[in-house]
Amino acid sequence: VLSCRALRKVFRGNVVLHDLDLEVAEHEVVVLIGASGSGKSTLLRCVNLLETVDDGTIHLDGEHITSPGVNPDRVRQRIGMVFQAFNLFPHLTVLDNVTLAPRRVHRQPRRDAEAAAMRLLDRVGLADKAREYPDRLSGGQQQRVAIVRALANSPRLILLDEVTSALDPELVGEVLSLIRELRADGTTMLIATHEMSFAREVADRVCFLDQGRILEQGTPQQVLGAPQQPRTQQFLERII
Ligand code: ATP
Ligand code: MG
Repeated sequence: VLSCRALRKVFRGNVVLHDLDLEVAEHEVVVLIGASGSGKSTLLRCVNLLETVDDGTIHLDGEHITSPGVNPDRVRQRIGMVFQAFNLFPHLTVLDNVTLAPRRVHRQPRRDAEAAAMRLLDRVGLADKAREYPDRLSGGQQQRVAIVRALANSPRLILLDEVTSALDPELVGEVLSLIRELRADGTTMLIATHEMSFAREVADRVCFLDQGRILEQGTPQQVLGAPQQPRTQQFLERII
């Protein structure tokens, strides 16, 4: 689904992504771990074309999306992205948040978009909140709506950046269980997280980022259980 080759991103002389290669296969869940500043968010933002890359290429379903003529909006229609801060539109109801892109971008009739949105909301236990505004929902509920909104476009790939970091601990579980369900459905995901227990549980593959490079990758058992690189070992010791 996704193929990143020799990605390089420089912010004011500071090399944030360093000749980075990454593949995500269909139905695969890849989890990015690494210290703060290692480049996880930058990588996700490059994939979603929120940042331009300074060198290298990104292909989505074989299409070269970092080539100059590509329309970023058209690419983002095929990618769902959820951030740490939920980024719901405060002036729109839950239902309107979820149906906005399907109606505006995909030109779905309101009835169809709303029916699909209600099915998704029902699945995450939020059908009764469809007419509420985001500020009437808990953080965990808002984040589930944000994930539903990302799913509403039937994306090829979902990018999740620290989706539980802004939540109170008791609300984290409900968001993680939704992500577990998506995985069970075969949703292709690229996830940045600081939660190693979550990484261990959902990842098919864990990539350890260090100063903009993937220093080590493998199954959760390999990378989290028996890391080979000293820097991975140090990182894991520090956070446990
Ligand atoms: P965290 O775990 O804290 O979320 P991260 O791995 O997501 O960290 P990034 O947000 O990708 O890290 O940041 C990588 C580096 O790029 C950092 O040194 C950061 O300061 C720098 N950086 C990110 N965005 C910008 C920007 N817009 N302008 C300048 N520097 C930036
Ligand atoms: Mg980040």
